[in-house]
Amino acid sequence: MEVPAVRLNLIFEAHKEEYMQKALDILSSGRYIMGKELAAFESAFAEYIGTRHCVGLASGLDALWITFRILGIGSGDEVIVQGNTFIAGVMGISINGAVPVFAEPDEHFSLSAKEIEKHITSKTKAVLVTHLYGMMTPMDEIVQLCRKYDLRIVEDCAQAHGASYRGKKAGSFGDVGCFSFFPTKNLGAFGDGGAVVLNDSSLYEKFLTFRNYGSEKKYHNSVVGTNSRLDELQAGLLGIRLKYLDEMNEERCRIAEKYFNNITNPLLSLPVPHTETVNVWHQFVVRCAQRDALQRFLRSRNIDTIIHYPIPPHLSEAYRYLGLGKGSLPKTEMLADTVLSLPLYNGLSAPEQNRVIETLNEFSE
Ligand SMILES: *Cc1c(COP(=O)(O)O)cnc(C)c1O
Repeated sequence: MEVPAVRLNLIFEAHKEEYMQKALDILSSGRYIMGKELAAFESAFAEYIGTRHCVGLASGLDALWITFRILGIGSGDEVIVQGNTFIAGVMGISINGAVPVFAEPDEHFSLSAKEIEKHITSKTKAVLVTHLYGMMTPMDEIVQLCRKYDLRIVEDCAQAHGASYRGKKAGSFGDVGCFSFFPTKNLGAFGDGGAVVLNDSSLYEKFLTFRNYGSEKKYHNSVVGTNSRLDELQAGLLGIRLKYLDEMNEERCRIAEKYFNNITNPLLSLPVPHTETVNVWHQFVVRCAQRDALQRFLRSRNIDTIIHYPIPPHLSEAYRYLGLGKGSLPKTEMLADTVLSLPLYNGLSAPEQNRVIETLNEFSE
C-alpha cells in the first residue's frame, strides 16, 4: 500500500459532474475575468467568514503584500511576524520595504500576545498572525494588545479556511484576513487564487481599485496598482468547493481525531490545539527528535511525508540581509529540525490511516 503525501485529484472526483458542468458553463459564457462568478464567490466567502467584504485576488502572496501596501506600511516600518511561518507572509512585508521582526512561537506553534509585546518598538506598525497548519491562534489578547499600541492586525489564513476561535472565524479578527486558494489548501482552486476579507468599506474600495491597475473606471488610473484578479473559472469552481468546505474540514477533523487516539509512540509529540478553538487540520504536524530517521523509515514503508518547513525564513538566503544567524530564534529553529507532516487529506481511506498509525507506532530509535 502506497500512501502519498497529497492526492488532489480525489477532491475533483468527489464532485466531478458539478465541477465539469460549471467549467463548461463558464467556458461557453465568453466572460473570463471580473464577471458574475467572481462577484458571487466574493459575497459567499465574505458571508462564510463573517466579514462585510471579500476581494478576490490572484494568489495568497498578493493578498499579503497588497494588504501591507494598502495599509500604508513600508520603508522604515516594522511588522512583527512569527519565525515559524511560510515565507510568503514575510515576503508580503518586505516587498513593501518594511522590516519583518521575528517572534518565537509557543508550544502550540502560535504567536502569543506576551511574545509580541517583547518586540514592540516605536517603529512597529502591525502584527501578522499566521493560523499555521489550520490550528487557530486565540485572538482575544492579541486584539487587546494591538488596540493598546495602535497596531494593525493582519491574519494569514492561507491554512485556516473555516477555523474558528470562540465561534468567530479566522480572518474576521484583524483589519484584513488574507487567504490563498492554492490547490493544496483546505479551500483550494484548480490553479492559483487568493482573497482578502475585511469590514472597513474604505479599505475595501482601495483593494478593488488596486487589483485592477489602480483603476475604478476604465482607463482612469488613480494610483499605481497591479494586476491581481481571481478569474471566472477559478471563482466559479471555488464557489462549488466552498459549499463542501465544512464537510471536508469535518473529514479532516475525524482523521486528526483518529491520529490523536491511536498514535502512541513515545518518540513522537502530537500537536496541541488551543482551548476554545475549532481547528481544520491543514496539516497534522508531529515532532520527533529523530525526525529525518522517522521520515526515511516511513518512506521505506511507502508512506510519504512533508516537512513544513525545513528552513525558517530568517535562515533562508533571501533574508540573509537581516543578519539573523543560526541560534537567533532557537524555538523556531528547533521546530524546523523536528516537525513532520503526516498524510492527512480528503479521501485518505481508513485502511491508509491505519497503516500510517501502525507504522508510526513501530518506529524505534
Ligand atoms: C500557501 C500559503 C501562502 C501563499 O499562498 P500562495 O497562494 O501560494 O501565494 C501564504 N501563507 C501561508 C501560511 C501559506 O500556507
